[in-house]
Amino acid sequence: MEETTIHEIDFALINEFFTELERQGPGSPEETIRALGFIGNLSNKTKIADLGCGTGFQTMVLAQNTEAAITALDLYAGSIDKLNATAAKLGLQDRVKGIVGSMDNLPFQDDEFDLIWSEGAIANIGFERGLNHWRRFLKKDGYVAVTYESWYTDERPAEIEKWWLDAVPEISTIAHNISIMQKAGYVPVAAFTLPERCWIDNYFVPQKARQEEFLKKYAGNKTVEDMIAFMRREADLYSKYKRYYGYVFYIGKKI
Ligand code: SAM
Repeated sequence: MEETTIHEIDFALINEFFTELERQGPGSPEETIRALGFIGNLSNKTKIADLGCGTGFQTMVLAQNTEAAITALDLYAGSIDKLNATAAKLGLQDRVKGIVGSMDNLPFQDDEFDLIWSEGAIANIGFERGLNHWRRFLKKDGYVAVTYESWYTDERPAEIEKWWLDAVPEISTIAHNISIMQKAGYVPVAAFTLPERCWIDNYFVPQKARQEEFLKKYAGNKTVEDMIAFMRREADLYSKYKRYYGYVFYIGKKI
């Protein structure tokens, strides 16, 4: 039987599903703060762009652990509305602004930012393409910090290789991704893997109740059933093959 691929899932449905969850991809406040620790010269003059921010869980962590002004950008307006509401609730609205836009056509000035952040989103436009496009929006000596799906080993079982090559055709090893970062005009500063709890506790487990809710709300809807089956398969594959892949935080400094 042919499986549903990520590209066949409706963008609006995925977003309706995920905007009710705290995060839309694997990650954790601890790993965001750990990555932030590699960034030099943070001050109340620092300007950060958070690209593919979703509803902004990591945006708020950045805001609460720096004095920076943050522009958070996502393609999905529903996520941006939620992000701006959260910023207001936390009293961060003067420093955090969510805007709708696309990561591959940024509405910013050259040399505008000290730091470009992106968790779980760069694969939407491609790791190499994203790093190349974003570079001009960074000041000299500015930083980029992204999480990106990566292979941990040189070889892996065909089942998981096929799944990921379909979802992220450019998926590669950590060493290769570091070389891409260097070729794109950044000095690689650090790379570290996201621990399992970022996937399991913060991504797969919170999905379970939402999946039940969705199946009830859209009873008999084949598109929704396929989407939930896809999500469950993603979680099963992770528990089976997690030693072969994961998200890696890549941090680089613009040359
Ligand atoms: N950073 C959030 C997190 O870690 O919880 C969200 C990650 S989610 C896996 C990927 C996000 O990228 C979604 O919010 C999606 O709407 C956004 N996205 C997809 N394509 C995009 C594009 N071309 N420009 C901006 N955002 C995009």
